[in-house]
Amino acid sequence: MTTMYQDRHHRWVYLFAERSDGAKGLLGGKGAGLADMTHAGLPVPPGFVITTEACNAYYAYDRQFPEGMWTQAREALDNIEARVGKRFGDKENPLLVSVRSGASVSMPGMMDTILNLGLNEYTVKGLTAQTGDLRFALDAYRRFISMFGQIVMDVAHEKFERVLERYKAQTAGNRDTDLTPERLCEIVADYRRIIFAEQHGHLFPEDPYEQLRMAIAAVFDSWMGRRAVDYRRVNRIPDDLGTAVTVQAMVFGNMGETSGTGVAFTRHPSTGEKTLYGEYLLNAQGEDVVAGTRTPHPISQLLNELPTAYKQFMTITQQLEYYYRDMQDIEFTIEHSNLYLLQTRSGQRTGAASVRIAVDMVHEGLIDETTAVQRVTPEQLNQLLHPTVDVDPQAGIVVLATGIPASPGAAQGQVVFSPDDAEEIARDGKKVILVRQETSPDDFHGMVAAQAVLTGRGGATSHAAVVARGMGKPCVTGATMLEIDYSQQQFSVNGTIVPKGEWITLDGSTGRVFVGQITLVQPSLGADFYKLMGWADEHRCLRVRANVDTPHDAQVARDFKAEGVGLCRTEHMFFEGERLAAMREMILADGVGAREKALEKLLAHQCQDFSGIFQVMSGLPVTIRLLDPPLHEFLPNLQELLTELSDLKSALRRARNGRREEQLLEEIYEKRALLRQVERLHEANPMLGHRGCRLGLLYPEVTRMQVRAIFEAACKVQGEGATVRPEIMVPLVSIADELRHQAALIDEVARQVMDEQGTTITYSVGTMIELPRAALCAGKIAAHADFFSFGTNDLTQTTFGLSRDDSGRFLSHYVENKILPDDPFQVLDQECVGELVQIGVERGRRVKPDLKIGICGEHAGEPCSIAFCHKAGLDYVSCSPFRVPVARLAAAQAAILDTAGSSLDLT
Ligand code: PEP
Ligand code: MG
Repeated sequence: MTTMYQDRHHRWVYLFAERSDGAKGLLGGKGAGLADMTHAGLPVPPGFVITTEACNAYYAYDRQFPEGMWTQAREALDNIEARVGKRFGDKENPLLVSVRSGASVSMPGMMDTILNLGLNEYTVKGLTAQTGDLRFALDAYRRFISMFGQIVMDVAHEKFERVLERYKAQTAGNRDTDLTPERLCEIVADYRRIIFAEQHGHLFPEDPYEQLRMAIAAVFDSWMGRRAVDYRRVNRIPDDLGTAVTVQAMVFGNMGETSGTGVAFTRHPSTGEKTLYGEYLLNAQGEDVVAGTRTPHPISQLLNELPTAYKQFMTITQQLEYYYRDMQDIEFTIEHSNLYLLQTRSGQRTGAASVRIAVDMVHEGLIDETTAVQRVTPEQLNQLLHPTVDVDPQAGIVVLATGIPASPGAAQGQVVFSPDDAEEIARDGKKVILVRQETSPDDFHGMVAAQAVLTGRGGATSHAAVVARGMGKPCVTGATMLEIDYSQQQFSVNGTIVPKGEWITLDGSTGRVFVGQITLVQPSLGADFYKLMGWADEHRCLRVRANVDTPHDAQVARDFKAEGVGLCRTEHMFFEGERLAAMREMILADGVGAREKALEKLLAHQCQDFSGIFQVMSGLPVTIRLLDPPLHEFLPNLQELLTELSDLKSALRRARNGRREEQLLEEIYEKRALLRQVERLHEANPMLGHRGCRLGLLYPEVTRMQVRAIFEAACKVQGEGATVRPEIMVPLVSIADELRHQAALIDEVARQVMDEQGTTITYSVGTMIELPRAALCAGKIAAHADFFSFGTNDLTQTTFGLSRDDSGRFLSHYVENKILPDDPFQVLDQECVGELVQIGVERGRRVKPDLKIGICGEHAGEPCSIAFCHKAGLDYVSCSPFRVPVARLAAAQAAILDTAGSSLDLT
C-alpha cells in the first residue's frame, strides 16, 4: 500500500485562492485565515501554504521534504509571479516573499518568520529600480540578512543588533530610519562577515531558491525548537499537529511616510471593551512593532495620518469579526497608502476580556449562550480571581516605577534577570519576577516559571505582553525608567537599586511596580461573570462543592456558589497554637484515660468550628471527615528532639547555679519523656501508617469525640433555625469491615447525642475511596456506605507508589521527558488511577444503585480531570473555594462537549 508520504501526487501545497473551507488543521490558523480572506475578496497579497502534513512528513523522513513538495512549491511560486507581475530572483523586477509558520492552534511568537526573502546582491539592485528608493532596498536587505542569519543559520540576534546599534549611535536621531544608504551598505557587509565567521566559512546563500528551501526547512525545524516545545507543554498542545508554512508576496510598510504596519484587536484584549485596539508604526516592517524597539502609536491616530486606509481597515475588521464571530487579532501593512491584510486569528485575551466579550457577543446576537460558555477557558476564569494590590493612600507606600499595564493581576516575587535563573529558583518553590529589558521567545521558559514579568521596553502588543496575557500572568512592559544592568544583576530607578533576590510587587492592571511585598486583595466580580456562570450552571450535570476547614473558607465557597462542603479535613483545624498542643497531647497520650482528657479539649474547638460551618452552609450538605492525621504532621521531629536534648545536656554541664540546674533537669526529664513517646509512635512510612480509620479503630474514643462534636454542633445550629445536613466520612478505608466498625460507632454516638438533645438530625455515613484496594472491593464497602468520595491524592500516591511529599523533586523530569504527560498529582492519570475510579463507581453502584459519589482530591479543581469525572458518572466534585467557579465552568464545558458527541478517551 502506498502511504501519503510516498504518493508523488499527494497535495502538499495549496494556493490561498484554492481553499475556502477553513481547513485549519491542514493549512494552520494563519494559512486558513489568509485563504478565507482571499475568498472574501479582501486585499491579501497572493501566496500559498505548505501543509501541516508536509511538516509531519518532514519529520517522518528524518528532516527531508516529502516527495513532490518542492516541485509543488515552485509551481505555486510561479503562480504568485504571474499574479504580481514580478519574478523570483529577477535582477530587474524581483519578487520577494515572506515565509512564516502557522500551526492550527495559535502559538504567538513561538515559531519563526522570515521577511524579504529573495534578496541578494543582484536583486537588491532590482528592488532599487522597482521602487526608485535605494535606501529602502538596502534597509530591506539588511533586515533580511539578519533575520535569515538568526533564524535559518543560527547566528545570535545580538550580534546583528550590536552592529545596528553602533551605526545608529552615529546618526543624529539614533533611529534606524536615520541610516543613510552608505551606512546601510556597511551594515550589510558587516552582517555578511558575521555570518561567514559564525558559520565557519559558509557564505550567506545568494540563490533565492536555496534561500526559500532553507527557510521552509527552518520553519519546520522551529516546530521542534525549545520555545515551541515548551509552549505546547504548558498549553497542552499535541506535538504531532505540525506547523504549516505560508509563503506570501511581500508588501512593504517601510516605503516612507504613506506606508506602515500594525496589529489590531477588534476588541480590547485586556478589558474586552468593544473598541478597536492596536498599534502601528509608519515607515516600518512588522517586527518593529512587536520587538518593542520603537514605541508604536495607538491605532486611532492612524485616522489622522492615513484616513482612507484607516477607514477601510475599520470596515474590514468589523467584517472579519462578524464572519468569525469572535474577537480577531489582525496584522496589516500599508504600502503607499494601499492596505493589505497579512493575518487574522482569534485574539489572545485576558480572563476579564474573555468573559466580557463572550457575554457581549450573546447580547449582540453573534453567538448563543452555549457558545459563550465554551468561549471562556477555565484558566481565563481563574484570572478573574487574581488578587490586586491594596495600597492604602495613608500608608505612604511609594511606587517605584510605572510602565504599561500589559496583563492584569498582581504578583510578588524575588527579582531575577534571566529565564534560566527564573526556572531554577522557582523549582525550589520560590516566587520570582522576571525582569528583562524586553523579552524574546527564548525567555519563554522563564516566563512560565515566573509569577510575573516586568520589562523596560516594549508596548502593549510586545512579546512580553502577548505571551503573559495568554498565560494569565501579570505583566508590566515599557517601564522605561528602569535602568537594567544584567552584568551587575540589578536594576535601578532614580538611584534606588534593586538587586537580584529582592522582593518586588507588580500590578499588571495599573502598570505599577513596588519594592517589597505589598498587601494583595481579592477582586470583586462583575455582572458579566455572574451572567456567564449562570449560563454555565444550566448545562452542567456535576455538582460543585468545596473543601473547607473553617467557617471563613465556607463563606468564600458559598459566595462562589459552592453547593456544599465535600471535604472538611478535621485535622487541619489543629495545625496551630493551643490547638496543636491539645492534638499532640491526644496523640501522645499513654492510655485511654489520658487520651480522653486531651480529647475533651479538642471537643470544644471542634464543636465551635463545626457550628460555624453548618451555619454558613445551611441547607447544603457538609461532609466532615474523621481525623486522618499521618501522625508525623503533628508530632515534634525526632531529629530535632534529639538535638534539643543534647543542647539541654550541654547547658546543664555549663550551669553554675542550683536553680538553673533544677530547671534544666526538669526540662531534660520532660524532653526525654516526649522523646520516648515520639520514638514509640515513630513510623518509617507515616503516609502508609497509623492514620485514617486505623486511628479510629484502635482508639475508638477519638471517633466518639468527633462524632459527638459534630452532632452537638448540628443540634445546636438546627435549634437556631438552620438546616443541617452532616455527612460523616471515614478516611483511608481499604477493608469493608473497617467501615462497618466505624459506621456502627458513628450511629451509636449520633443516637446518643440526639437523644440527649431531644433532636433528630438527618445524616449520612460514607467513606473515602483512596486506596486501590478500596476501589477494587467497592462493592463490599458500598454495603456500609451512603456515599463515596474519591481521595485521588492518596489514590494517586498509592497507585503509582509515589510519595506525595517527595516526588516533586523528580516528577518534573518525567514530564519534561514525556515519560508522563503531566504531574499526576495535578492532572488525574486517567489511564490507571482513572480506571480505579471507574471500577469503584461501577462496583459500588452495582450494590447500591443510588450511591452518591464525588471526588475531593486536588484533581477536583482541574479541568481535564473534571471532564473525566463527568464522563465517569460522578455526582459532584469538591475543590478549594477559589477553584469553585473554574470547576463550575469546566463541568459545564464537559457536559456540552458530551452532548455534542465528542469522545473523551477514558481508556
Ligand atoms: C485525598 O487523598 O485525595 C484527600 C482528599 O485526602 P488528603 O489529601 O487529606 O489525604
Ligand atoms: Mg487522603
